[in-house]
Order: sequence, then C-alpha cells, then structure tokens
Amino acid sequence: MASDRQLNCRDCGSTFVFTAGEQEFYASKGLQHDPVRCPSCRANRKAMRPEDRFEAPTYGTYVSWGGRTPRQLNVATCAQCHQTTEVPFLPRGDRPVFCSNCYNAVRERQEAEEEAAAQRLAAQLAGGAQSERPEGEGPAAEREEAPSGFGL
Ligand SMILES: [Zn+2]
Ligand SMILES: [Zn+2]
Repeated sequence: MASDRQLNCRDCGSTFVFTAGEQEFYASKGLQHDPVRCPSCRANRKAMRPEDRFEAPTYGTYVSWGGRTPRQLNVATCAQCHQTTEVPFLPRGDRPVFCSNCYNAVRERQEAEEEAAAQRLAAQLAGGAQSERPEGEGPAAEREEAPSGFGL
C-alpha cells in the first residue's frame, strides 16, 4: 500500500513529501525511481531549460518568425521576393511559399480581397432579397432566377 514518504531534495537538500497519489502516478507512468528534487526545484529547473536561457535569436530568418524557432524547418524559396526562407511546414508544389514578410503582405491583400468579395456578395444578396430592378449592371440575365411567387 502506498503511503506518503519523506524524500530529500538533491538540489536544495530540503525535505519534501512524495505523496501516495504521486507515487501512484509515478507507478502508472512506469517510473521506478523516486523523484530526486522537491517540487520548487523541479519548477526552477523547468524554467531554466537550456533553450530558454538564451535570448531570442537575432539572426537570419528566424527573427521574422517572431523569434520563435519553429520545430521543423524546411527551406523554400519565397514565391514573391525569391529569397531563401525557412518555413515551419513542408512546402508542397501546389501552392506558393512566401517568406514571412511577403506572407504578411500577401495575407493582408487576401484578407482585403476576401472582405471586398464578401461585401459584394452581401450587396448582391441584399439587392436580390429586395428583388428590385437591377441598376443597369445586370440586364436580362437576372430574370433566370425568378423569385418564387412572382406570378399570380
Ligand atoms: Zn529543492
Ligand atoms: Zn519574400
């Protein structure tokens, strides 16, 4: 039967409790050994992982990804400025790859275009719903879509 145990922290030497619940947790993970550090030292070590101790990288294209190094980098050529860039996904032949600068520009433009398209669509729907006379732009073709209940 598991019961709470007192352990000594290897880092700070203080005593901490390895509770029955934690022991069960360890056992369920297949861990045979006791924890060697008290919870606060464990947290400290976590906060000091080597990769976190370095400043955000200030070199190359990593900077353009907000200083974060994507896990998986694939080298690609930006479809717009033709600079070599690294992207956090595997480029496939069917869509262009942009460096982050160009990607931001492209995305802004796409968003603007999508918004414009949505507004056009909304305007069309609004116009259609009111079933008013088209303003000269769309002659006769509009009639194909005769609103129901148009006749008697
Ligand atoms: Zn400790
Ligand atoms: Zn580019």
